[in-house]
Amino acid sequence: MSERDVDLFVIGAGSGGVRAARIAATHGARVAIAEEYRIGGTCVIRGCVPKKLLVYASRFPEAFEDSAGFGWTLPQEPTFSWPALIAAKDKEIARLSAIYEQNLARANVAIHRQRAVLDGPNAVTLADGTRITAERILIATGGKPVAPDFPGAEHAISSNEAFDLKALPERIAISGGGYIAVEFAGIFAGLGSKVTLIHRGSKLLRGFDEDVRDEVMAGLERRGVELVLSDHVERIDLEGDLRVVQTCAGQTLEVEQAMLAIGRRPLVSGLGLETVGVEFDHKGAIQVDATSQTTVPSIYAIGDVTDRLNLTPVAIREGHAFADTVYGGRSVTVDHSNVPTAVFATPEVGTVGLTEEQARERGEVDVYKARFRPMKATLSGRDDKVLMKLVVDAATDRMLGVHIVGEDAAEMIQIAAIAVKMGATKADFDATMALHPSAAEELVTLR
Ligand code: NDP
Repeated sequence: MSERDVDLFVIGAGSGGVRAARIAATHGARVAIAEEYRIGGTCVIRGCVPKKLLVYASRFPEAFEDSAGFGWTLPQEPTFSWPALIAAKDKEIARLSAIYEQNLARANVAIHRQRAVLDGPNAVTLADGTRITAERILIATGGKPVAPDFPGAEHAISSNEAFDLKALPERIAISGGGYIAVEFAGIFAGLGSKVTLIHRGSKLLRGFDEDVRDEVMAGLERRGVELVLSDHVERIDLEGDLRVVQTCAGQTLEVEQAMLAIGRRPLVSGLGLETVGVEFDHKGAIQVDATSQTTVPSIYAIGDVTDRLNLTPVAIREGHAFADTVYGGRSVTVDHSNVPTAVFATPEVGTVGLTEEQARERGEVDVYKARFRPMKATLSGRDDKVLMKLVVDAATDRMLGVHIVGEDAAEMIQIAAIAVKMGATKADFDATMALHPSAAEELVTLR
């Protein structure tokens, strides 16, 4: 039996930290966890979960419009209440946070609802001054939005605040061209805000397949999102209740809200990591090996704070693998290849594997593409398209990448990812009978 107070001390009760704590405790370890904000972390409290709820809300107006083509007449013009949505969202988030907390308590994990900082390689000090010694410490503090320093940047919100706005902005300027900017452009536009998306590049969603990027941009524009490309926010001034956003190229926008979504950084500051000798990579993330061990043997790190693949299921896998390896007597590493991902924009993106460009760098590829009108759009009359694209290794016939833009892309890509992960070939896709009528059948009928 160790003489330390606990076997494992976890800093950060987000998805990854909670999973690691719970599994380590189930394996018999004495575990404590500290969280300075709310149990659940970014994903549950101000990320994936509330975002998806807002995405659902934002898609109703199109559904109301589309229903007319199917014979429906709405009894009256639908009205929307932002406060009602936010209150419903808050209730659900509180429910989920409580479940996380109960699960920790049930696994006998001691919860400290305060900040913890390192005090040597085997101890932490809590905000109330309590010192707790631990055989191992796991850093799972996640990330935080990048805060730029142009004049008036403090007048802009980040995604953190977007979830708790008192009112739906009539007009909003969003800076960024990644996941968060594109998803919130879809949310606000769907709910009726006039959205201007300002991005420094000439295309949104860098790193995604070029066809996907084109399709998303066209889809956002069809929904009224104004794209200001190859431009930067230069300053923001407050004029009464309005924000006046000035761009480098000379655009001036008067908006109720300005939002910055220009990336997230690992949350590492003020934890005492440097003083104990934990090293960072060139991007400021905690450097870890394949077992999530840092350069200090008693200290491990998982999730966004390590900036490997900043996705919730990845952090959960990393936390689980750490707990199984260190406390469960079986060595588990996380495979970061072929991880499916979705951008819950409208139109939605689902993608797994290599883009066409990445695949071409490796060798000959065959590309199969379809861009078609989904069946629902025939009666609704909506000018909408679905894009399906398969990237295949010409030499081995192996499926290297699947890319989908359109309704239910995320749902489809999760299943396609199983096939890609298993090493399926195009011939395997072709041998699979189509399910008719569906959009997904294109995946097995593309020639
Ligand atoms: P991303 O890294 O996805 O995108 C950042 C965007 O901001 C890019 O378009 C980038 O441009 C731009 N940018 C970066 N620096 C500046 C700057 N100084 N001035 C102007 N523009 C700048 O970050 P997000 O904030 O959108 O999301 C953070 C992470 O959270 C994602 O990478 C993802 O891992 C995760 N996430 C996942 C979601 C999901 O799975 N659905 C949803 C939301 C977030 P450029 O392309 O030129 O670099």
